[in-house]
Amino acid sequence: MVLRPSIAIVGNGCAAVECVKALRESRHSGAIHIFADNSFPPYTPALTTYFAADKITYDQLAPLGNADDFYRAYGLETHLDSPVTAIDVNNRIVRNTAGEEIRFDQCLIATEASPVLSPIPRIQSTRVLTMRSIGNAVRLKEAIAAGLKRAIVAHQLPRYPVWLDRVV
Ligand SMILES: Cc1cc2nc3c(=O)[nH]c(=O)nc-3n(C[C@H](O)[C@H](O)[C@H](O)COP(=O)(O)OP(=O)(O)OC[C@H]3O[C@@H](n4cnc5c(N)ncnc54)[C@H](O)[C@@H]3O)c2cc1C
Repeated sequence: MVLRPSIAIVGNGCAAVECVKALRESRHSGAIHIFADNSFPPYTPALTTYFAADKITYDQLAPLGNADDFYRAYGLETHLDSPVTAIDVNNRIVRNTAGEEIRFDQCLIATEASPVLSPIPRIQSTRVLTMRSIGNAVRLKEAIAAGLKRAIVAHQLPRYPVWLDRVV
């Protein structure tokens, strides 16, 4: 009997894409479900600042180009634009906001991280922007277009104080 385990991959970034390629190159012929909280093609967050600064175009953010071709070529079952809300490890089920419940044999969580704002007074402001996703880059671009001239760039690692990087 040929075993064809079903794989669930949560996230559609670089790690997810490389996992898909490795699975198919290793002759995995079972189902691969890919879950994403967005409908963008796989892109690299490292380029978002270049996009915000008009150094690259929107299309250049996504090295694979048209995601549909990639998803089709690798025979993926896609569950896009609906964040995964729970992984039932005991019963091996992924749940998302679309109400889907997908069973898996093995699961890769490739969601990376999201910016967390420190509990500083008045930090929940439209003037405080985080930088991680295409959505964040679009907001920064809009702020620049609306006349933003100067920004304080700050970052923080866990357990370290906020690092004021530079004023640009
Ligand atoms: C501004 C910036 C500059 C960077 N510069 C560099 C650099 O110079 N060199 C370098 O090596 N690295 C750099 N990085 C880091 C690099 O981008 C990451 O290490 C890399 O993207 C990680 O890939 P990943 O696939 O693990 O995660 P990501 O590419 O972040 O992909 C994770 C995906 O999972 C999705 N997701 C999250 N939660 C859920 C959920 N609940 N359900 C479904 N989907 C979800 C996200 O929307 C995202 O699309 C930079 C990052 C940023 C933001």
